[in-house]
Amino acid sequence: MSEKSILRNSATDPNKILPMKYKWARQHYKDGVSNNWTPEEVNMQQDVEQWKAKDFLTEDERRVVMWNMGFFSTAESLTANNIVLVIYKHVTNPECRQYLLRQAYEEAVHTDTFIYCCDTLGLDPEEIYTMYETIPSIHEKDEFVINMTKSIMDPNFEIKTDADVQEFVHDLVGYYIIMEGIFFYAGFVMMLSFLRQQKMVGVGEQFQFILRDESVHLAFGADLINEIVKENPTIWTDEFKNDITDKIKKAVELEIAYARDALPRGILGLNVEAIEQYVRYIADRRLERIGLVKVYGDENPFPWMSEIIDLKKEKNFFETRVTEYQTGANLDWE
Ligand code: FE
Ligand code: MN
Repeated sequence: MSEKSILRNSATDPNKILPMKYKWARQHYKDGVSNNWTPEEVNMQQDVEQWKAKDFLTEDERRVVMWNMGFFSTAESLTANNIVLVIYKHVTNPECRQYLLRQAYEEAVHTDTFIYCCDTLGLDPEEIYTMYETIPSIHEKDEFVINMTKSIMDPNFEIKTDADVQEFVHDLVGYYIIMEGIFFYAGFVMMLSFLRQQKMVGVGEQFQFILRDESVHLAFGADLINEIVKENPTIWTDEFKNDITDKIKKAVELEIAYARDALPRGILGLNVEAIEQYVRYIADRRLERIGLVKVYGDENPFPWMSEIIDLKKEKNFFETRVTEYQTGANLDWE
């Protein structure tokens, strides 16, 4: 029997999950399951009152809410389509596929979250769901990711040569490292800052749940990339590493442009310079996570973001009510 490998292995039986080789994929699956949640669990009553009140939120605050709804509402679907139509097709290993099914479900929950927010707040869906076309700095982020994956979207694309493996890893970097690992994060900081200020707390909690899911998606994507590189070491040329690093640097520029546009003046104790620093800081973490040399050397200006990501089960970080969203075997009654 030939050794299991993720790509280019005709011996892989997608229906035979045991014995399992990639234990990290199994662990990410379990971590996903233990973070189970649905948007309807979050009460939006106070948000509705704050959103409808004439002067509770400033114009700039409303703009940040709208822009992040606009960006995330379509970005979640973009990611889901890429997983199902491209990644699932080529990653035939069963334990990785089990995780991809879990992730696809979570992306459906995230898509549902923005439907729920639009419905409860009475936002104009035509405005929200066209922002990826009408707002240039949102459009550019989406286009950048789509362009990184053009060639493998071709239905005739097959993974045979090292160049094909590079194309595929390039796609994984586009979606996991750049879309989920960089392009989501200025938005996360903005929306979680609302939560810290007790404004639009329901929306902020929804983003907090999404952030926790996304941090697992990102970890899976990085492990998948690292495993493919380990199994195909000849693809990891200096030229390819430079190409990926350059793409990540370009993504940092686009994310900073988005933050400047969404938040032209400081609000909620945030200023654009701090968000720019945060984007550079997380880009360095992403580079290191896939074995590349960091570029920027910034400190984390928002250490509270790491605490939110790391807290698995706790009294809600900002609120008085207890948030208990671990379920099943991982539930830990106190
Ligand atoms: Fe998502
Ligand atoms: Mn995701």
